[in-house]
Amino acid sequence: MNIQLIKGDITKIKVDAIVNAANSRLAGGGGVDGAIHKAGGPSIMKACDFIRKQTGGCPAGEAVITTAGKLPAKKVIHTVGPVWRGGNFNEPVLLRNAYENSLKMAEKHGLESIAFPNISTGVYGYPLGAAADIAINAVIQHSDQASSIKLIIFVCFDTLSFDIYNKKLTSMGVI
Ligand code: ADP
Repeated sequence: MNIQLIKGDITKIKVDAIVNAANSRLAGGGGVDGAIHKAGGPSIMKACDFIRKQTGGCPAGEAVITTAGKLPAKKVIHTVGPVWRGGNFNEPVLLRNAYENSLKMAEKHGLESIAFPNISTGVYGYPLGAAADIAINAVIQHSDQASSIKLIIFVCFDTLSFDIYNKKLTSMGVI
């Protein structure tokens, strides 16, 4: 399994699935969520509306899958990270679950490539370095049990997060 790091816009990436840092009502919003719905068109929200009607939404740590509409990716896996409330409200477990359940969802659908944004580190306020450690550990641990997934890409939108990931992944010998 190959792990890569890219600096850029996740809506431009041609993989089997891009992951959306959604909210639990799957209602769209700003940040990466807004960018994905804007670039992918209304069919993604239509699919989210359907899931919301069936299940009420997506709790923190869980993941659901929809069409990717007009995006170059084939699917969008919507996961919900925790809102950072100081670190004593189960945030690390919920963030790890968000990565793990996204990977499991991709495996369930036989997908081979998946791209992640830095879940929870925007509006949800999770400290970048701590979130990167969780993201990287979850992905590395999954690589031992991966079946369909062959490529995982971390997509950093800004230089600061790219530099943090780059340092960590390089020092671990992952990239
Ligand atoms: P959350 O609510 O989970 O914090 P945000 O969308 O506010 O989600 O931020 C999550 C991360 O996504 C941030 O690091 C932000 O810089 C990044 N981001 C925003 N837009 C994009 C995009 N188009 N592609 C990739 N990452 C993005």
